[in-house]
This record gives sequence, structure tokens and C-alpha cells, in this order.
Amino acid sequence: MFGQRLRHARRARGLTLAELGERVGRAPSVLSLIENGRREPKLSLIEALAAALSVPVAELLRRQPPNRRAQLEIALEEAQQDPVYRELGLPHLRVGARVPSDVIEHLLALYGELRKQRAKPTATPEEARAANAGLRAMMRERGNYFPEIEKEAAADLATAGYAGGALSQGMLLSVVSQHGFTVRYVRDLPRSVRSVTDQRNRRIYLKQESIGMHTPRTILLQTLGHFVLGHSAPADFADFLRQRVEANYFAAAVLVPEQQATAFLREAAEARSLSVEDLRDVFSVSYEMAAHRFTNLATHHLGLPCHFVKNDESGIIYKAYENDGVVFPADATGAIEGQRMCRQWSGRQVFSADDRFSPYYQYSDTPSGTYWCAAFVDQSRERGFAITLGVPFEHSRWFRGRDTLVRRFSACPDGECCQRPPADLAARWEGQVWPSARAHSYILSALPTGSFPGVDEADVFTFLERHENE
Ligand SMILES: [Zn+2]
Repeated sequence: MFGQRLRHARRARGLTLAELGERVGRAPSVLSLIENGRREPKLSLIEALAAALSVPVAELLRRQPPNRRAQLEIALEEAQQDPVYRELGLPHLRVGARVPSDVIEHLLALYGELRKQRAKPTATPEEARAANAGLRAMMRERGNYFPEIEKEAAADLATAGYAGGALSQGMLLSVVSQHGFTVRYVRDLPRSVRSVTDQRNRRIYLKQESIGMHTPRTILLQTLGHFVLGHSAPADFADFLRQRVEANYFAAAVLVPEQQATAFLREAAEARSLSVEDLRDVFSVSYEMAAHRFTNLATHHLGLPCHFVKNDESGIIYKAYENDGVVFPADATGAIEGQRMCRQWSGRQVFSADDRFSPYYQYSDTPSGTYWCAAFVDQSRERGFAITLGVPFEHSRWFRGRDTLVRRFSACPDGECCQRPPADLAARWEGQVWPSARAHSYILSALPTGSFPGVDEADVFTFLERHENE
């Protein structure tokens, strides 16, 4: 009953779980457990909640359910404030005492369906690219550091009793169970998903094998991240991307904890021996996650601006981040994904390096300055991709590999650098060739419709039916 009354009071004040959570210093997922009657709050939390909602404690603790009629009225009032509802251009309906409850229920059901129809994040490639560019700008602004998510991960780890090093399986499951979830490893997971969460029974289903660079534990934590961070079904494509970035951040923050990783990086910097592969080895994560995690902590804690790129062998960029002024190739909308980067950059040079098992180091002179970069092709995970971490020249002194003698000159985006063929070759071949392009459209093609882009819902529901009573 407490949960119901809490939800009633919260909604009556127009607060989301995240907003209320912020007021009382708790994760939205914890409040959600309480509202669903799956967790008993301590008296101190009840008092904090009552204060945050400005209701007497006794009101929250009353045993009667909140009046159904009052709930309906509030819900319809809220619905009418929703832009989706307003777009219909209907006059405001004042819900007086004479409007029968079943009419209100009927209207709410229609509204629910309207929201469902609208809330399907689909995007044209242009919209998807613009959303990506917007997200990247936001990440750059905060040095790719999200303190709220760090705090959440640190609290979960503390409760699990984490002391340092790579996260054990037991510790991992403890983090998951703190949020009321259990884990089921299955073989018949639908092909269009990495995991499926049954919210009714609070079960997370996943496979016991890696998908691309994602290990089962990364996938598990990314999934959990959505709930811990209070995500709801994405409103649009930009929302979908933002949620994915946050969930991935949460996973990395649990697997490579801020406090321990920062201490480790500080020590390495003092020894002038910073390296992504050491971070990878100490916390037992993929090279890509270690490099990405480095960008989270480097600027905030070590004062190092940096950049990160993931590209394939033909130089096409799949992911990129920078706050060190390096200029990535971009299209007219500012999108970087899907662009081909300079042939002289380390992410392309690494593919022709002799030693494919250690990072490749190089200094690159570019129009925006000189950078020191370490690039690596992870043979154990995704051999077709290079991961590069780079810093401006003056910061190279903290890194292992700074003594490399390799130095390349890049003039891109000047076409004379490498994007245009040399004049003599062009003269010989122009007009004589018909190359059939290998499409990269899958990077950011128009996404299939559905509440979650690219997910086959029919498959997922059949799957859940099959497993629910196991
Ligand atoms: Zn170039």
C-alpha cells in the first residue's frame, strides 16, 4: 500500500522517479522497487520522501488505497498537458464530478494508445547523424565525464563490498541483485537483441557468449544501467542514443571503477607509463572499453584532453570522441560516423604495422596541431577494427610509447593529402573504372520502426512466453 500511495503522491506533483530520486538522494530504480512493493523503505527514507513531496508521513502510511477516482482525474489532467495530446487541438476538458469514471478510463486508454503510436523512435539517416553530432557535442562539453553515473556505480560497488581489481562474477551478480533483478543465461535469445528483461518478474535473460566486443558481463551491466538510471521507453532517436551512451557508461563505471582506476592512472602517469593496455589488463575488460573509459577519466582527473576513434580497415569511422581539438572528417551536418579518415592517421596506419599484437604509436602532424596516438587492432575481439587513443603533443610525455620515431604528416581535409588520387594515376585511370561499392549503410541507415529500434518484438514476446514459467 505504501508504494501505491507514494506513486500517487509523486504523480500528483508531476514528478518523475528520477526527479524524486534526486530530491531524496536515491536511485530511481530503488524508488521504483519501493513503488512496486518489492522493497520496504526505512523510516528515515519515508520521512525524506514525505518531506520531498510535502505530505505528512501519516498520509503516506495510510492503509487505504488512494482514491481511484482521484487517480483517474489526475491522470487525465496530466494527459491533457502532454504535447502529443495538445497537438490534437481539442478544447481542454474540465473533469468535473459529473464526468463518469468509465468515460475517463476510456479517454485514458485512447491517450495511452496515442502515446504508443507516437513514441516509436525512427530516424532517417540525416536525423540519426544529427542526433549523433548533438550527443558528441554534449559529451565534449563535459569532458565525457558523467558524475551522477559514477556516483551510482560507486554506491553499487560499495554495497557489494568491492575492494579493487577486476570485478568477480559474484560481485557482478551482487550489483544486479541489489536492484531486484536475477540473471538467466539462455541459448535461444532472439537474434535481434543482446538481452531481454522481463520487468514483470525482474529477470534479465542473456547468452553466455560475447556479441561483437561485448562480453556477457558488459551486456548484463548495460542492461541493468537502463533501470538503475531510470530510463523509460525512448521518446525519439536522440533519446535512444543518449540512453545507450548512459547505459554503456554505467557498465564501464562498474567494471572500471572511478576511484581505483583513477588511482591506477595517476600512478602510471607519475611513472610516465600511461597506457590503455595496462588499464585493460588490470580491470580485465576489452581494449575498446579501456580506451573509452580512459576518455571518461583523463580530462576530469588528470587534466588530459584526448580523442578516441574506432574505425574499420578502410578508414570508415564508427565511433569518435574528442575534446583536444583534433578535427575529424565530417559531412555537412557535422556527422563523423561513416566518414573516411585520413590515410596518414594511426587508425589506418596500424593495419599495415608489422607487430599486430602490441599498440602502434605515432606522432601525427595535422592542420590543428601535432598529436601523439596509440592505435590497436584487438585480435581477440573485433579484428576488423582499430581503436585509437590520442593526445596533443605536449601531453605525450606521460605515456608509454612516446619515444616512437614514427611521424606522419596529414593535410586532410585538403583533398591533395590523400582523398584525391595522385594526378598521374588519375590521368591513367579516370573513366576506365566501374567499382561496385561495398555499402556502409548499416552504420546509420534508416532504422526499422518499433519501440526499440531494430528489435523484433514478435521474437521477443514469443521468447518470454517460452521462459516465463521456467
Ligand atoms: Zn589525408
